[in-house]
Amino acid sequence: MKVGIIGTGYVGLPTGIGLAELGHQVVCIDNDVNKIDALKAGRLTIFEDGLEEMFQRNIASGRLSFTTSMKMGVEQADVVMIAVGTPPHPVTKEADMKYIHAAATELAEHLTGYTVIATKSTVPVGTGDDIEALIAKKNPIAHFDVVSLPEFLREGFAIHDFFHPDRIVIGADSERARNVLKNLYAAFQDKTEMLFVKRRSSETIKYASNAFLAMKIHYINEMANFCEKTGADIDEVAHGMGLDSRIGKKFLNPGPGFGGSCFPKDTMAMAYMGRTNNVYMSLIETTIQKNAERKKEMAWRILDAVKDVSNPKIAVLGLAFKGGTDDCRESPAIEIIAELLEQHADIMAYDPQAMGTAAQLLGDKIRYADSAYLAVKEADVVAILTEWKEFESLDLEQIGDLMRHKRIVDCRNLLNAEQARLLGFTYQGIGK
Ligand code: NAD
Repeated sequence: MKVGIIGTGYVGLPTGIGLAELGHQVVCIDNDVNKIDALKAGRLTIFEDGLEEMFQRNIASGRLSFTTSMKMGVEQADVVMIAVGTPPHPVTKEADMKYIHAAATELAEHLTGYTVIATKSTVPVGTGDDIEALIAKKNPIAHFDVVSLPEFLREGFAIHDFFHPDRIVIGADSERARNVLKNLYAAFQDKTEMLFVKRRSSETIKYASNAFLAMKIHYINEMANFCEKTGADIDEVAHGMGLDSRIGKKFLNPGPGFGGSCFPKDTMAMAYMGRTNNVYMSLIETTIQKNAERKKEMAWRILDAVKDVSNPKIAVLGLAFKGGTDDCRESPAIEIIAELLEQHADIMAYDPQAMGTAAQLLGDKIRYADSAYLAVKEADVVAILTEWKEFESLDLEQIGDLMRHKRIVDCRNLLNAEQARLLGFTYQGIGK
């Protein structure tokens, strides 16, 4: 099938590459000329494990191409996916629909024949109706259906999740559109649950799922606080809880709070939708508030670890919002660093993938090191803020030799606490 994807970001690009790998003819469209130029030149614009090889293979096969022209991407397409951003509105914190509305308006005039417009972006309930109205107004003779096709991929596992989704949710109120999507995802038919629901249910499933996962993280963080006061160990508690299949093991890792481009904005958007529909989302409202507080608490935990040192040097390991990605949007690490900078901290940071994206946010307010070992040189404390695998196997003896004071605040419970203490470190984890 012919597919046009509008928006080549963390969702649009892996989706486009995945669909090309399945054998579809995919045109990825973006209005960011630099991104398209890079992609056309064979340079990936995001970091995702396993993406590079598939990207090159599908360009070479001729199934994957890139353009800034809406016309080129939309005109021939059987399915057009909208995968543009839906950031929080600066004032109300509801999902800002300006990119969605612009994309819908821009694509409308290029529709020819019957086309399914599928919304991959996370959008408030009722957005399908708005897109339908916008397109019909701009191009009254267009023949199309709008479906909700929410994306559940995890950054850092985008390709894995594309090929092994837990479910494919399709919110379509038209039989014809449902059949088009069945064909598009035919490769998954025997192995993945394909859930056909009302468009508004589909739009809600995405927000309800993300808000639930965010609450789960907030819950385990609160339990970690409890463990710290009572002598229980959160890792043991989380393991014991997770063995209950009704609870599940995932999203029970205590840490510095959730971040990224989805949970913060999606919880705020869900809370806003609740308020505008006179349904107060008490759990979500609390989760948002406590998660914001948590990042400040983590910053003060780090500062407290060096309160006896004048002009302390802080080594930060990890800038991305989680391991496996270069994405720093709403990263707890960035927010913790911002709080540390408020207190005039001297920071040297290292991240295996996210130095470039972090530098766009932090500029020269901190210093950047080329390795974890260079970051900790002469440091008074090391703060581990992202759960990168490579930090798990750091040579702690060498780290200790390089530091001025042997202190670790491990906000991800990544290191072996016992080993660190045996090597003379003052070690603080989470919920221990
Ligand atoms: P992103 O910011 O990485 O990418 C969006 C892209 O859309 C950008 O490259 C931008 O230039 C492009 N764009 C914007 N307006 C355009 C237009 N009119 N024409 C062409 N291109 C345009 O965003 P993302 O992280 O890929 O997220 C996209 C959507 O998917 C959001 O709604 C997000 O909530 C949702 N989502 C994201 C994830 C994730 O892990 N990042 C997971 C599930 C769902």
